[in-house]
Amino acid sequence: MSHRTVPHHASQPRIPHHVVRVRFAPSPTGYLHVGGARTALFNWLYARQQGGQFLLRIEDTDKARSTDESTRAIFDGLNWLGLNWDEDVVYQGANLPRHQADARRMLDAGAAYRCFCTPEELEQRRKLAAASKEAFKYDRRCDRLAPDEVSKRVADGMPFVIRFRVPEGETSWDDIVHETISFPNKDIEDFVILRSDGTPIYNMAVVSDDIAMRITHVMRGDDHISNTPKQIQLYRALGAELPRFAHFPMIHGLDGKKLSKRHGATAVSDYQHLGILPQAMNNFLVLLGWSPGGDREVMSMDEMIQLFSEKGLLRKAAVFDTKKLDWMNGQHLSRLSAEALAPLAMATFIREGLLTENDPTATSPEFYKLLDFVKERCRTLDDLARLARPYFTKLPFTIDPALVDSHLRKDAAVTKALLTDSTTALEALTGWTPEAMEAALRAVAEKHGLAAGKVFQPIRVAVTGSTVSPGIFEVLVQIGRDVSLQRLKEAAALAT
Ligand code: GLU
Repeated sequence: MSHRTVPHHASQPRIPHHVVRVRFAPSPTGYLHVGGARTALFNWLYARQQGGQFLLRIEDTDKARSTDESTRAIFDGLNWLGLNWDEDVVYQGANLPRHQADARRMLDAGAAYRCFCTPEELEQRRKLAAASKEAFKYDRRCDRLAPDEVSKRVADGMPFVIRFRVPEGETSWDDIVHETISFPNKDIEDFVILRSDGTPIYNMAVVSDDIAMRITHVMRGDDHISNTPKQIQLYRALGAELPRFAHFPMIHGLDGKKLSKRHGATAVSDYQHLGILPQAMNNFLVLLGWSPGGDREVMSMDEMIQLFSEKGLLRKAAVFDTKKLDWMNGQHLSRLSAEALAPLAMATFIREGLLTENDPTATSPEFYKLLDFVKERCRTLDDLARLARPYFTKLPFTIDPALVDSHLRKDAAVTKALLTDSTTALEALTGWTPEAMEAALRAVAEKHGLAAGKVFQPIRVAVTGSTVSPGIFEVLVQIGRDVSLQRLKEAAALAT
């Protein structure tokens, strides 16, 4: 029988060809993976840039593995990244009647046929083929059944699947990323589109939904390349216009292997909880398979929308390097104004016990000043909270015992003398200003015959509990006279 096409859904409103409609179609069987987030981001950017629509379809047809919790995790992840979708969420499972109707239309038009071979029979034939080292391919025996025989079997209630009859020739498409991809159709067996229980196979459901959702560009991971020829054949059989396809490269770990949990966190929410900013996450993800050209890397969301282009999509596998993510986060963090940073940092500061829910401090000029003060040296929101902690002077202050050992107790006698002399010198100051402090502390260093840095470092450890901080005089100003002097005295007492 020859390959024929069936008419397009009559009820479907045609939309102007130039309106871009893309979709993100995750299966809700786990958390939102960074690879999924990258696919969502590319689709979202493309839609936003082209003034099109970005749709979300939850592919929940695998009832055994799909969970509401996972669907929620997908929503949460996309919301956190700011990848808002247009129109109502489409749940694939709700479209079962259309999937079945589309499969039927192909059956009625002769583009598909009923297959009564049982799984056991197929398994046996597969084994026979394997024994004689032949590639197994369904031999179309049910396509050769006489129409009367088919009717009789159906009337007898014999279970059947619906198989698509793969046409002769080859299937190729002009992939946005890979250019021309071709598959000889002889390598593709007549694949099942509807199981004997009436449920659709993945490729059937996807094509039926993509047609109904009027998707113009199907953009997804390389792992779907082998599905694409089958999907194209279904589009043609259903008489629908083909979308354009783009297949993004796989994401690898630093060792060149496919990204997996072995490489560290792969859930978007893990990075959220590690204090990564959503715009930094997006900026990091956008460079996994795309480049704006030149050596430009740090971009705001608006810049990404502007710069995103088909041309910049790359073919080679992208490398997921969390060090780069941390660096990227630091870049975004230090570019944010304190006012913009404060609400993003709120959850981390609450978790770390620095602020409480609805804390008025969080919108105070002092807090903004503090954020501006410490943000330059931070890569994550956790760093920000850690570096900001010593300036919350009403909270208990302790120095990590390891730091006490390495910095206060190591040369205990010298350190004690330095801290005591510095305290005395600072206490004598009439004005608590950087200039006055500098003069006083340089004099202490001179008295001990040491470089100034040797005096500043134990002071830094004493008042911040850290070896990293902004300039020491600004630190002392920010902490204030009384608390600084008190911490210096406590540290001197520890230097024994
Ligand atoms: N549900 C598929 C997946 O999560 C995506 C299907 C598609 O984008 O065509 O891999």
